[in-house]
Amino acid sequence: MKNLFILVVKRILAAHYPDVVMSHKEIITEVMGRFTFKSKGKELLSKGWHHVIPATDERDIMLPTLLKESVGDVTNTLTTKSKTKPPNRYTSSSLIGFMKNAAQAIEVEEMKSIKNLPLGTEATRAGLITLLESRKYIEWKNNKVYPTLLGITIIDSIKMGSVIKSPILTAKWDVKLNEIGASLYNHNDFIAHSKKLSSVLFEEVKTYSTKWNQNGVERIKSDSIGACLLCGSNVILRKGKHGEFYGCSNYEDSGCSLNLPFKVLNKKLSKKQLMELLQKGETDIIEGFKWKDKTFNAPLVWNREDQKVQFGK
Ligand SMILES: [Zn+2]
Repeated sequence: MKNLFILVVKRILAAHYPDVVMSHKEIITEVMGRFTFKSKGKELLSKGWHHVIPATDERDIMLPTLLKESVGDVTNTLTTKSKTKPPNRYTSSSLIGFMKNAAQAIEVEEMKSIKNLPLGTEATRAGLITLLESRKYIEWKNNKVYPTLLGITIIDSIKMGSVIKSPILTAKWDVKLNEIGASLYNHNDFIAHSKKLSSVLFEEVKTYSTKWNQNGVERIKSDSIGACLLCGSNVILRKGKHGEFYGCSNYEDSGCSLNLPFKVLNKKLSKKQLMELLQKGETDIIEGFKWKDKTFNAPLVWNREDQKVQFGK
């Protein structure tokens, strides 16, 4: 009862106190003129109602008040072990957001001055993504974008210094197109430049095409349904003595013998179920297996040791 009363009183008092004022800040600490450390946190400017109810959010990292160029001594050092995480994959909306300004992706030093780098226009961005998808350069898993094997092959193919892969080129074109629209740039100049660039690009292609690794493209053409559970190559529809089956595309090269059944106990498996098996090593529960006069439901799992497909629990 007393505690409750104190709580209420504190709350009422706090309501009459001024706001808490914090500033978000970042301190860059330089050690020995060679190493820089960045500390992000908050600085308390005015305690306000925290006089009555202290701050409880422990996630807040409070930084001390420092003046620029303040000098201090290193009194203690500590190394911690941790792993960096790869950046989050783009979702359909964050990808469009990124395309609005791709400047953040530029690594080339002299291009860092570019602050605004739109790819496509408001009207074309969604269409560009759909186009990449329909050409099978990208695919979506749980609303996250992944390059396909074909996409990776294309990216690798144009890796060799070609300007065509650069977002800067695309963005510059978009800027120029806007300028043409606003009569700030002559469209004939633009066409002339594009023609010149095309001939340079064709020369590049001629030089580099001999080095392209087209394995990925060949495999995609043969419609892979996933990665081989034995060797990681692509699993494709193959033809054998007993008709068609899904097997490893590496069979001719390495003799990899992965062979997925079309039917288990007379139950035909769908392509989706086989893909699931390849991706996760197991399927969801499949209904309608028949054994003698009984029907049962079970998932299929890949038995790593025996290298065969069996029923799961
Ligand atoms: Zn294989």
